Amino acid sequence: MIPLSATLARVRPSPTVAATQRARELAAAGRDVISLSAGEPDFDTPRHVKDAAIAALEAGKTKYTAPDGIPELKQAVAAKFRRENGLDYKPSEITVSAGGKQVLFNALMATLNPGDEVVIPAPYWVSYPDIVRLAGAEPVIVEAPMAQGFKLSAEALEAAITPRTRWFLFNSPSNPSGAGYSRAELAALTEVLMRHPHVWVLSDDIYEHIAYDGFDFVTPVQVEPRLRDRTLTMNGVSKAYAMTGWRIGYAGGPAELIAAMRKVQSQSTTCPASLSQWAAVAALEGPQDCIAQAGTAFCRRRDMVVARLNAIPGIDCPLPEGAFYVYPSIAGLIGRTTAGGRRIGTDQDFTDALLEEQGVAAVFGAAFGLSPHFRVSYAASDAALEDACTRIAAFVAGMH
Ligand code: PLP
Repeated sequence: MIPLSATLARVRPSPTVAATQRARELAAAGRDVISLSAGEPDFDTPRHVKDAAIAALEAGKTKYTAPDGIPELKQAVAAKFRRENGLDYKPSEITVSAGGKQVLFNALMATLNPGDEVVIPAPYWVSYPDIVRLAGAEPVIVEAPMAQGFKLSAEALEAAITPRTRWFLFNSPSNPSGAGYSRAELAALTEVLMRHPHVWVLSDDIYEHIAYDGFDFVTPVQVEPRLRDRTLTMNGVSKAYAMTGWRIGYAGGPAELIAAMRKVQSQSTTCPASLSQWAAVAALEGPQDCIAQAGTAFCRRRDMVVARLNAIPGIDCPLPEGAFYVYPSIAGLIGRTTAGGRRIGTDQDFTDALLEEQGVAAVFGAAFGLSPHFRVSYAASDAALEDACTRIAAFVAGMH
């Protein structure tokens, strides 16, 4: 066996990938499995976006590009930031990568040293702490409990900041909770950040366009423009345009940081895929009606899933502002035993037993740093979601 690096030894394998893999194995063995563990829209990429990629292919746009994005895409990103967020970024302040995940990776690899700390509210997207660890630094996890709508308090943020804090990692609407911060809630956090000028802000806005009930999306630099010189505003086309497989994410930030990230990218993937970049230009500049269409379907599903789960004794499911996840508490079920004889001591016991006994794949809360919860992705068909809720209800009804 090859000896592994000390850095990799600090990194956990992805629990969401493991959950999805177990569901695949059961399905391959002939079991009827409903997978609600994936973090991607179930819609197809819009036609005009596919056409743009086909046209780029036919035009021979199949070569290496500038390391952090073709000028046309940087222009489209700059226009998007201006149009939708009121933010002005020059092309030298914009980076394009193979997904929002690589944007995060480049930023953290470019800036972190051993002993540095990154403040991450929990529940968090599974990759945040492990990318921080890969970069040699320490994640500092701060709880944002359900009683606070899964939102971080100003006091908790203040208490987590030390002289070693390099970044505050912010995500709204959130994966996994769906929590979206209002302008006032975010302002409470930016006020704290203004008192700590050594802390940089990484705002993950990937779910900006998936929000409900007139939610007014804001990003930290909009709320506090004085943070612009130490904020990386990250976004991407994966969730808004159903383009997860195309792998395009982008960000705006100070030119020096963007240049450092370009160096990481030039020595890793060289550049994002050329055809995907042309597709992303079409997504950002073309008709935007796919966003509203997806929003209508996601909203209907959110309402149905929240109502169905809340009707189950022992499950408490808040109504999220955005994203396509719910993050119910199962505090009322801990200590019970399933019909199949499995004792529910943790949220992982709950999701393991739910998969084995009812064929529903969801992800346990400990994976996202806040228990006892489980995450359901409602980026699935209405019929599959109805069926899954019926099975979850039967699963809980069978407990003693
Ligand atoms: N940020 C959050 C909160 C996510 O949930 C995801 C994907 O699941 C990403 C970033 C990365 O998305 P991508 O790399 O596809 O742009």
